[in-house]
Amino acid sequence: MSQDAYCNGCGSKIQSTDKTKPGFISEDLLKEKSSDELICQRCFRIKNYSETFPYEVSNQDFLQVIDKIRNEDALIVKIVDIFDFSGSFVPAIKTLTEKKDFILVGNKVDLLPKNVKHKKILSWLKIMLRNQGFDVLDSVLVSAKYGDNFDELMRLIYKYKGNRNVYIVGSSNVGKSKIINQILKRYLGAASDIVTESLSPQTTLGLIGFNLLDGSIIYDTPGVVNKHQYMHYLSRQSYKATYPQKEVKPLVFQLNEEQTLFFGGLARLDIISGETCDIINVVTYFSNRLNIHRTKTDRANKLYKDKLYSLLSPPVSSEEELPRWVFHEFRIRDNQKYDIVFSGLGFVTLRAPFHVKAYAPFVVGVYTRLAII
Ligand code: GDP
Repeated sequence: MSQDAYCNGCGSKIQSTDKTKPGFISEDLLKEKSSDELICQRCFRIKNYSETFPYEVSNQDFLQVIDKIRNEDALIVKIVDIFDFSGSFVPAIKTLTEKKDFILVGNKVDLLPKNVKHKKILSWLKIMLRNQGFDVLDSVLVSAKYGDNFDELMRLIYKYKGNRNVYIVGSSNVGKSKIINQILKRYLGAASDIVTESLSPQTTLGLIGFNLLDGSIIYDTPGVVNKHQYMHYLSRQSYKATYPQKEVKPLVFQLNEEQTLFFGGLARLDIISGETCDIINVVTYFSNRLNIHRTKTDRANKLYKDKLYSLLSPPVSSEEELPRWVFHEFRIRDNQKYDIVFSGLGFVTLRAPFHVKAYAPFVVGVYTRLAII
């Protein structure tokens, strides 16, 4: 086997010694395939049988990737999941983008309601980035699922890269692999998907590079896992019911003080008071498959105890042990609109002034931000 053979699906070094490790191909198959056809057994099974494999990218691997990018004058294309902006902006990604030329790509724009103006989202993204202390060259919203806005993305890449290489970076599951596959199919002549995409985190394990038309290289990189998201604590079945797969339809609830909304059995919002008025409009943006249930706050604890896994579901089974819940209290007195975000699950929008409590498992990021919509 050539020392330099790498899997085209996940970037792992090809090996024929350990079936349980990434990069495995049997010796017989290895003899038959050319290096640009090599797909390891793990990638083959993820693609064809939707299997999942709990491999971790070791810190060592990831540090090597960071070092390579840090020491190179390259263009960074930073991907965020528009549905979970802060969740896709973990510290390791900040390190990678610091002092680098970078373009911001907001992916999964197909999940937002159709009437939302892209211009508004882009200016919102700019404010978010400024708050994090970043200067971005440009930004664009895309849908890797439908291929929307890829001409604009490619125009920006070629405009800013000069003769440098390009690195696609982002937390796991923001859609990096799907973006690369769209670029390969639309602009670089690939007949089908090459990089392995999956609902599970950490499918891409090493750097996977492809030649752009001018000879520089565009790399897919391993995702940095954000452990503050629900997906790490749910079964595949629950996660599928939790994460939106198509346009989210907002629901409007008019809530009084001491009323509660449950988002499946995964999160809860209590209205403590509307401060200046009795009724608060709460608009919810969650997967259409997540059951949202309204109740009185003084009945909420009993309901949770009795109806978790049935009325309050997902989680679908008691085998999924979600970490203990904590609450986050938000009391805001101006009159702007805010989102309260349950990282990786969804968000609610309400106009201040309000006083609410948001409950979620302690590992999950719950935060407030100026309303995106
Ligand atoms: P990576 O871990 O960042 O490489 O992410 P993947 O490309 O493997 O995608 C993770 C999950 O997000 C998969 O289930 C994809 O189908 C889904 N996904 C990626 N891009 C989009 C998009 O533009 N819209 C929607 N709705 N889902 C997407």
